[in-house]
Amino acid sequence: MAAAQGVDRALGDGSVRAIVLTGAHGLFSAGADIREFNTPKARAEPNLPTLIAAVEASQKPVIAAIGGTCMGGGLELALGCHFRVATAGASIALPEVKLGILPGAGGTQRLPRALGLEAALNMIVSGATVPAAKLRGAALFDEVVDGDALAAALAFARRIVAEGRPAKRLRDVALREPNAEAFLQFARTTVAAVSAGYPAPLKCIDAVAAALKPFEEGVRIERELFVQLLESPESRGLRHAFFAERAAARIPGVDENARARPIERAAVIGAGTMGSGIATSLASAGLPVTLVEAKQEALDRGMASIRRNVEAAVKRGKVDAAAAERTFARVEPGLGYDDIAQADLVIEAVFEDMDVKLGVFRELDRRAKPGAILASNTSTLDLDRIAAATQRPQDLIGMHFFSPAHVMKLLEVVRGAKTSDAVLVSAMQLAKRIGKTAVVARVCDGFIGNRMLEQYVRQALFLLDEGASPQQVDRALERFGMAMGPFRVSDLAGNDIGWSIRKRRYVEKPGVVYSRIADRLCESGRFGQKTGAGWYRYEPGRREALPDPAVDALIAEYRRERGLEPRQIGEEEIVQRCVYALVNEGAQLLDEGIALRASDIDVVYLTGYGFPRYRGGPMFHADTVGLYNVVRAMRRFAADPRLARGDPGFWKPAPLLAKLAAEGKTFND
Ligand code: NAD
Repeated sequence: MAAAQGVDRALGDGSVRAIVLTGAHGLFSAGADIREFNTPKARAEPNLPTLIAAVEASQKPVIAAIGGTCMGGGLELALGCHFRVATAGASIALPEVKLGILPGAGGTQRLPRALGLEAALNMIVSGATVPAAKLRGAALFDEVVDGDALAAALAFARRIVAEGRPAKRLRDVALREPNAEAFLQFARTTVAAVSAGYPAPLKCIDAVAAALKPFEEGVRIERELFVQLLESPESRGLRHAFFAERAAARIPGVDENARARPIERAAVIGAGTMGSGIATSLASAGLPVTLVEAKQEALDRGMASIRRNVEAAVKRGKVDAAAAERTFARVEPGLGYDDIAQADLVIEAVFEDMDVKLGVFRELDRRAKPGAILASNTSTLDLDRIAAATQRPQDLIGMHFFSPAHVMKLLEVVRGAKTSDAVLVSAMQLAKRIGKTAVVARVCDGFIGNRMLEQYVRQALFLLDEGASPQQVDRALERFGMAMGPFRVSDLAGNDIGWSIRKRRYVEKPGVVYSRIADRLCESGRFGQKTGAGWYRYEPGRREALPDPAVDALIAEYRRERGLEPRQIGEEEIVQRCVYALVNEGAQLLDEGIALRASDIDVVYLTGYGFPRYRGGPMFHADTVGLYNVVRAMRRFAADPRLARGDPGFWKPAPLLAKLAAEGKTFND
């Protein structure tokens, strides 16, 4: 570690009276390289705790000059220094909790001694970034300056040397908090209520509580808790998720000379559910948007919905009223295509109907300027067919947003057969600009997310056929960690959407077996929350899903008619069948080259479908279970006569899954 050598040199040099630590490029340090966590490299000496101990023990005063970011291990090092000088624009954080661990180099012991128990605990449990300017006056900083941190720290060093001021060591501070026990109890209850499935936040509290003990004992407790967390499956899942999101932005094989096209003005065609959300999202990121509709009424409805979106953002404290007003003002409503010629990007979000879309794209082909990016938000239609209807298939791309488009992070960027690399790179860059997590997919019906979802829902419906109730299935998957079970999700999205897709499937793929139970529900008008009844019932104005005996009766009657003998189904079977259905379709997508990598599939499910982050995504979860075990369970399902009625072909492992399982490998090898 270069820092350790520098400190050693300064300590050994008799002419050095004080030491100032600073980072390159105006940063202090963004912390450890988390790729090295739990590797021999991370444990190799001199490691961070050794360096901090050397700094803290130094007889010469050591001053941290904090400019820019000071995070994680970087902040822990600064806390080991005797003095800290920060620029007001610097920001500090101990974000380890987000990766399922805790600061393991004394951070949980020194920060409470510098900020007080409550403020330190809040920072450590949330991992939030705090601007230095907000901490003026706290013992953490000896000075917060408006100018350059290094210059100020050097001046400070000269002053304390001249004054002969003794070194201050946070480890020597005795934390006096008369109400600590009551506060910690309150913190434990509050945090436990919101961190189900995540062990790190509660362990952070235990570590911070240990700061009330003598320093050495606290450090020992912190280390023990750190090691426990580092080896936990939850932390592995969270670290996988972290890297998976970064990896998704990299597209192998893209021409390195491909440059993103500048996007200064956008247009959205269709102001329905998706179009108004997409326009909100673009305008919130500062892009002027023309919103185009066929009819005035629809346009008015779209603009009203954008207004509601920006007002909701103010209510949630995301933006202030003035910023919301500016966002709204960036959207210019229009009937017809007159203003399209100025747009660098056009996103189509009209009805999901090939003829309607072809009509729109022919018009765009005539009107859009050369080089404009033409995107479709289609969920199921063949993008290549749409592209072929234009003279510029290289400029076409799919940008599949999720509903509500201004809230959901996920964006599937769909690369058509002829999409140019420059257009692909532009779409990825735009995604970043509007705060989305983009994942690249090739063209197929449903792309990555919805194609997998169809198999998951098919399995959930088979479970109803066989004896489970919607509540049981939802509860099992919610206990597994899904944000919402499939039946609650379906009630939220509208059961009629799945119904219309299934009706198409019955014609297109007559050989594929579907349970018809959901059709029966829809035939009785139970479309979900919007009709006050679906798989559950809803009180007017409330979203709480209440079990409904009428649904139980409907399911029971359906089973009787079809001669289905209900049986008790355990939670484990419910979870395995639904989740392995996702995994197998995911493997199929990899085989077909629709998804670039298994971790991209994980990102889709983590950011778009409420898959528990601490499990790392469906493919990582399968790796954790062991692909051999996944395939074994699938074979068991295939052989079970009580399931066979579902679809005997369902459990045939995708070639990639079978191969990896046989070789003892994982998706993420
Ligand atoms: P919607 O019915 O709410 O909105 C479609 C809008 O397009 C309507 O306002 C309609 O007036 C307008 N329109 C129709 N023809 C037009 C034309 N020629 N010119 C201009 N406007 C026209 O539908 P939606 O749910 O917003 O879906 C739009 C697209 O987004 C579809 O392709 C759909 O598959 C896709 N999508 C929907 C969701 C979702 O959850 N709703 C999610 C992802 C993608």
